[in-house]
Amino acid sequence: MIPSRAFANKTVAVFGLARTGLGAVRALVAGGTKVIAWDDSSTARDLGGQEGAELMPWREWPWEAISALILSPGVPLTHPKPHGVVEHANRARVPVIGDVELFAHEIRSHADQPGKAPVIAITGTNGKSTTTALVGHILNHCGFNAQIGGNIGKSVLELLPPLSHKSGAKIIYVLEMSSFQIDLSPGLRPDVGVLSNLSPDHIDRHGSMENYAAIKARLMRQTARDGQVVIGVDDRHSSAVFTQLSASGGAQSFPVSVGKILGRGVFVVDGALYDATGAHAIKVMDMAAAPHLLGAHNWQNAALAYGAVRPFIADTKAIAAAIASFPGLAHRMEDVGHIGKTVFINDSKATNADATARALAVYPDIFWIAGGKPKDGGIESLSGFFSRIRKAYLIGEAAPQFARTLDGKVPYDMAGVLEAAVARAAADAAVSAVSAPVVLLSPACASYDQFKDFEQRGDAFRASVAKLPRDAKPTSRAAS
Ligand code: ADP
Repeated sequence: MIPSRAFANKTVAVFGLARTGLGAVRALVAGGTKVIAWDDSSTARDLGGQEGAELMPWREWPWEAISALILSPGVPLTHPKPHGVVEHANRARVPVIGDVELFAHEIRSHADQPGKAPVIAITGTNGKSTTTALVGHILNHCGFNAQIGGNIGKSVLELLPPLSHKSGAKIIYVLEMSSFQIDLSPGLRPDVGVLSNLSPDHIDRHGSMENYAAIKARLMRQTARDGQVVIGVDDRHSSAVFTQLSASGGAQSFPVSVGKILGRGVFVVDGALYDATGAHAIKVMDMAAAPHLLGAHNWQNAALAYGAVRPFIADTKAIAAAIASFPGLAHRMEDVGHIGKTVFINDSKATNADATARALAVYPDIFWIAGGKPKDGGIESLSGFFSRIRKAYLIGEAAPQFARTLDGKVPYDMAGVLEAAVARAAADAAVSAVSAPVVLLSPACASYDQFKDFEQRGDAFRASVAKLPRDAKPTSRAAS
């Protein structure tokens, strides 16, 4: 844990006592701060109390005595409208920040010491977690102590403190940053900033695509001037961010592309990763050597991760070996089992059509399980992949809408719930004429209509697959 001393001997309010809020309470209390906290859930409040926070409904908070409000990234800061607690803080001129801002303050206070621990901050619409985990994997493989957190795994304040490397490998922080977290951490100055790509997502919480892109761009601009920025330039929004940054004279910026040969930067062409950050382009590896980074989207993640670690690791062969041995992440095109000729792939993390497109692009014969809580735009944008879908199994609130889009183009089954969808897809795949069918859960929807989160949905998929009969042809009972 990193004790937070920015507000020692003062009073700080924490609103939202989930993972990041609890981490903040613990770190603030350890740093000598009095903490007042609230969460609408009594279970969360109990946990906050156990960490040493004084529990008090936010409407009763003594704003004149409060030095800062630490807001959970899940609570609306600006859109669709600020939460009441934010409005109160604004009126009382109390700064509203997040746990990452507290982390940034601690890191800065060590910045002049010889043991300075660099920070790599990763954001973008898709690929954040995979890139973050891959950067961490490469660093650990190459002898560093990667401390991975933020929007993935641990909250930033739960990571090891900057100087704890005395006993071992050098610490490098690898932080996944959501746009909500960026909004709440204006003081974070990463040594390396990574922007994977930009497409419309969470627009309800950011007002407009322009505002959403501007928030992501802000993290790149906050990157230390002597640091480095790595940006995927294959979509028009992030390409525009790259152009603006290159022209603004901040940190050195490198573009990343899949499909385009770049005079300068990192790119994947014809399935091979090239490093053109130096005088000449060098071939680093064939991406076929990385079995858990399938598809052009994962090649983008690999190229971004390569660009992010390059300032710290000179041995490009070691980076290539680490990329090849990456085990992949759960719920992202995760192979969860084989029955006969059928492979079952859990891509529950694909919560929008853009993410689902990546999986549909990888497999030629798909028995597709989709649906959940629909996102704007539905699945119209996936029509280019419909020829790969042998049949669709629709679940959740989005089922009628998706059925209308598929009607007359792709056979579909209104399965309703996940377990029925898995059983029917498995049965159809087993008796189909195709030689390598893939039953793919890639919902293109949020999970909240039927599940707590995408993890629970992916776990339910895995459990349903485990319950299927193990012989090559599932019985007709499974198909009923
Ligand atoms: P994030 O943390 O940004 O949500 P993940 O790495 O968890 O990203 O991947 C989520 C989903 O997004 C994956 O299941 C995949 O479908 C898709 N995806 C992953 N990387 C990319 C990428 N570079 N470009 C587009 N889609 C991607």
